[in-house]
Amino acid sequence: MTGEHSPYRLAEELEHTLGDPADARTPFSYAVCLDLDAREEFPAGICRLLDDWGLPDYYVPVRHGGRLRDYEHALHLVRTVARRDLTVAVAHGKTYLGGVCVWVAGGEEQAARLGSDIRAGVPVSLALTERAHGSDLLAGEVEAVADGEGFVLRGEKWLINNATRGSVLCVLARTADEGGPRGFSVLLVDKRTLTPGSWRPLPKVPTHGIRGADISGIVLDGAYVDREALIGPEGGGIETVLKSLQLTRTMCASLSLGAADHGLRLALDFAHERRLYRRQLAELPQARALLAGAVADVLAHEALALVASRMVHTTTGELSVVAAVTKYLLPTGTEDVLTALGELLGARAFLVSGPGTGPYGMFQKVERDHRIVGLFDGNTLVNLNSLILQFRSLVRHWRRRTPPADGVRTACDLAAPLPDFDPAELRLAARRGAAPLAALPAWTAALRERAAEEPALKDAADLAEHLLAVTDRVHEEMAAYADVVTEVPEDAFAVARRYCLCFAGAACLGLWVESGSGVPGGEGVWRDALWLRASLERLLARLGEQSSSEVQEELLEEAFTLHGHGRLVSLLRLQLRREAA
Ligand SMILES: Cc1cc2nc3c(=O)[nH]c(=O)nc-3n(C[C@H](O)[C@H](O)[C@H](O)COP(=O)(O)OP(=O)(O)OC[C@H]3O[C@@H](n4cnc5c(N)ncnc54)[C@H](O)[C@@H]3O)c2cc1C
Repeated sequence: MTGEHSPYRLAEELEHTLGDPADARTPFSYAVCLDLDAREEFPAGICRLLDDWGLPDYYVPVRHGGRLRDYEHALHLVRTVARRDLTVAVAHGKTYLGGVCVWVAGGEEQAARLGSDIRAGVPVSLALTERAHGSDLLAGEVEAVADGEGFVLRGEKWLINNATRGSVLCVLARTADEGGPRGFSVLLVDKRTLTPGSWRPLPKVPTHGIRGADISGIVLDGAYVDREALIGPEGGGIETVLKSLQLTRTMCASLSLGAADHGLRLALDFAHERRLYRRQLAELPQARALLAGAVADVLAHEALALVASRMVHTTTGELSVVAAVTKYLLPTGTEDVLTALGELLGARAFLVSGPGTGPYGMFQKVERDHRIVGLFDGNTLVNLNSLILQFRSLVRHWRRRTPPADGVRTACDLAAPLPDFDPAELRLAARRGAAPLAALPAWTAALRERAAEEPALKDAADLAEHLLAVTDRVHEEMAAYADVVTEVPEDAFAVARRYCLCFAGAACLGLWVESGSGVPGGEGVWRDALWLRASLERLLARLGEQSSSEVQEELLEEAFTLHGHGRLVSLLRLQLRREAA
């Protein structure tokens, strides 16, 4: 199973097709990306390469003519692109974000038309944000006024990815004067069919990271669209957007994982190459501890992302929780990882290019580019806030010991085929708690039972029990905020952060229990639950509990071995360099 997991094989195929990124002659190389960044130039040629490979097919569900059958495959494809360059991943992957409202709420014909556009390489944008209102979607002023057989749109959407280069936009607009949750609709606006003069693009905004991306906006000034442009029912826009964001927020994990892969690769190289005090940097205890912690964090993030992307299919009704946890933990956790790795790289993390920089000039770009992941598509606090609003129900189901939804075992068993994703199953709030946490007691017991036979698993079982006890406490802390609706107190955000760490720990444990037992004798990072022990220790440490660094040392050795063989530091095998296969 660990050798032949198909999403990793597909990602490997894309990786190999794109060629060696360290070779400046490769079209999608680090050198080309640094150069484009310095010139703030859109990576148009690289996006065409990805189109030629067929990446847009994976943004379109199979039922609408594409090849998106499961979100785990999409996660690893976008991660592969993000590992080379986040600007490209954001610029290209944006089209999935643009189309998602149609996949969730659009009609069959509308979806088929959009699917065929996307597969032909037409970029699509999602236009939610307005200059004056940021995250406050209900304050949006862009209006769509009914007029004969259609709508007339007026207003400005600003800070929109691909607003200028894209041909089609999904626009959230006010369709009832009074606004409110049923006062907005999403419309598919095709710039190619608008009357000239009824819209204009806004200039590209220079940005700190993803400098080459087309971050701009659009002014709609009497733009007429047919009623067919409506995505879902009139007045259903906020619901459609909130459900669609559950998918995109889950998939943002791919951007953070790609950034972490890149940072880790540079740091592992540096730790080997750099010699200080007549020793390799990799031999200094402080450097080792830092690297080991980063490896453990990245594997924990990967485990959460794997389970989350599979829960899209198996436990769709809980995605309001899964997406918020993932969109909080992956970007913030990866920022911490990059900060730590930046410390290790020292001055090299600060240099851009030129003599003496070596291959490390990309690090500052990765760090800058990745900052956007925690900002867009619902920022960190917005995601934590959405969890806090579900505390009441989450606590109730935890206390009642509501059994986990059936699908959680399938989500954690990588060998199990995934059911088709049904957007009709999406819910604005989870109705029966969070399945990975509901399954935590059973998974803990299963591991304890196995540890009775295999003493090497004893530490992992102890850690799982520790996590279970902390999770219980965290739910009691959450109970204090069960009635919060508005005026969310600051402390509630701290509790929500702790909840996310418990959720991630449960996902790690579930993945190991449901998938790991299928690995005969265990191998690599799966041996004796190595990655699980390291991940749980780190998560518990982030929860303020005591941790030891011994297991992380072992994990670091595995990471060096993987890296040395040209493999991704990852839970499952992914060969980065074809020749070493
Ligand atoms: C590079 C880039 C690309 C983008 N691409 C797109 C795009 O393609 N489409 C699109 O529609 N938008 C896009 N955006 C806009 C982006 O989604 C918004 O910037 C984001 O939603 C937050 O808005 P804001 O930054 O204006 O902050 P605001 O929402 O104004 O927030 C200000 C502060 O209030 C805090 N805050 C907000 N809500 C809460 C809450 N509920 N509880 C507690 N604190 C809160 C925030 O954390 C922040 O500290 C993009 C932005 C950037 C920078």
